[in-house]
Amino acid sequence: MALSGLQIYKLLPGSSANPTIKAHANCKECGFPTCLAFAMKLAQKQAELSQCPYVEEEAKGQLEASAAPPIRLITLSADGRKLEVGNETVLFRHEKTFFHQPGLFIRVKDNQPDLAEVAQAVGQYKVEYVGMDLAPDGIAVEAAGGDFAAAVEMVKANCVLPLILLSEDPATAEAGLKAAQGVRPLLWTATPDNWQVMANLAKQYNASLAVRVNDGDVNALAALAEQVKEAGVEDVVLDPGLRDYGHSLTGFTQLRRLALKQNERRVGYPLIAFAGDDPLLAGQHIAKYAGFIILDHFSPATLYPLLVLRANLFTDPQKPIQVQPGLYEINHPGPADPLMVTTNFSITYFSVANEVESSGLPGWLLVADAEGMSVLTAWAAGKFDAERIAKSVKNGEFVEKLAHKRLIIPGHVAVLLGELEEELPGWEINVGPREAVDLPNYLRTMWG
Ligand code: SF4
Repeated sequence: MALSGLQIYKLLPGSSANPTIKAHANCKECGFPTCLAFAMKLAQKQAELSQCPYVEEEAKGQLEASAAPPIRLITLSADGRKLEVGNETVLFRHEKTFFHQPGLFIRVKDNQPDLAEVAQAVGQYKVEYVGMDLAPDGIAVEAAGGDFAAAVEMVKANCVLPLILLSEDPATAEAGLKAAQGVRPLLWTATPDNWQVMANLAKQYNASLAVRVNDGDVNALAALAEQVKEAGVEDVVLDPGLRDYGHSLTGFTQLRRLALKQNERRVGYPLIAFAGDDPLLAGQHIAKYAGFIILDHFSPATLYPLLVLRANLFTDPQKPIQVQPGLYEINHPGPADPLMVTTNFSITYFSVANEVESSGLPGWLLVADAEGMSVLTAWAAGKFDAERIAKSVKNGEFVEKLAHKRLIIPGHVAVLLGELEEELPGWEINVGPREAVDLPNYLRTMWG
């Protein structure tokens, strides 16, 4: 568990009873005026322990342990693609932010006839959402009685995403790991019956290892993770064996709480979840608290909303998603086409741009720097006022491209009309609709 500034101070030379160490108290070599000031900065993670050369070894061990993230970062990779999961520090997004979104994996079976086609489709699937490219993260290859090694090779040949290998049988798992060489996969699963040999395989082939119990027994899971760790596998993933809504919700939440609030290091690892073909269950796992989620089939209709949900939960709530301020051309506008202005909050921008684009009408969209806020929020915060809008217009060389001086402002800030007319003499200011969805009709009827 993270230590407070005062707890850290007690481990520094300033409060030490050892006269040799104590002699350095408040020596300022760390760049801070006192040991206490340094301790406070350490607690806020704004300083590095290595800045103080006089910390005793024992204290250093305690401080480093407290600084380690409560949930270990696990990295899977393949062909230059990397998936990082873990390092989470909060239970609720609003407390700080979630750092690493859970990996969404599509399950394929080694006896599946359309294996290559599915692997290709998963690897190529990508959708754009408010300026971000969203895509699944990998493929989980399951040993189901076919040729596991050949299946892994086929998936690798058709898709460059990271892999999870699903096999409880050590010999089959080893064949898959050999075929997966060159990628860093996750091997599922070590159980109380096979963990020694699976741990050896994970070490030998540099794979992460998922440990599993069948009934959500947290003590048994923690003990199994500890055994695997003592056998030399650091990158562990936990599978509490819970597959339904209620038990997985309570079990996953309990494990997250234990790791974050009780500093229970034995369960300080990401969780793996199996959602079958149930998008609601997958959505629950995205929110609480899976690190890897396996879906049974590839379906864009299921995947798209899950990717969007994930993107929304795993953005920093303190940093609005923004687009670059500037002038955007929609549908190849000409000099006589309308000029609209909005803010640089991504969702606002894409709402407006998508409506105009799908209408087929050409137009110029001026995006003012409103610090990533939506129209009304930015106006209320003084970030989207007449002065700023006028500045965006005056600073834009695009004015020379236009054969008119007419500007359409969002209906929500109609109140700016008078001020804008003063700030932009010679311009005609038009008040557009309040909602982006009404823009095409407005442009057809009012612009001519
Ligand atoms: S380097 Fe900083 S923390 Fe270390 S003894 Fe000197 S003042 Fe204290």
